Amino acid sequence: MKISIGARVEEAGSSIKYKTGGWRSYRPVVNKDKCTKCWLCYKYCPDAAIEKGKDCAVIDYDYCKGCGVCAKECKFEAIEMVPEVK
Ligand code: SF4
Ligand code: SF4
Repeated sequence: MKISIGARVEEAGSSIKYKTGGWRSYRPVVNKDKCTKCWLCYKYCPDAAIEKGKDCAVIDYDYCKGCGVCAKECKFEAIEMVPEVK
């Protein structure tokens, strides 16, 4: 799309509005029994798709793109990447 000189963008893009979870081919699944609540996954998730749950890390599947960074960073093997089933 070409934007003409002087044009105004009335509505800027919003990552909240665009749910990117549909891009996923693998989904992270948290094993509640293994999670120590160290929050490393929370810090490393590039999409801020992990919340600090009461008992363990909680994935927001609306925005998780399935990159697998959380599973790689978890030192307790509490996150497993499994194929997404549509
Ligand atoms: S990195 Fe692993 S152990 Fe730490 S909060 Fe995340 S899932 Fe739990
Ligand atoms: S798979 Fe990637 S986007 Fe999804 S929760 Fe883990 S780090 Fe975040």
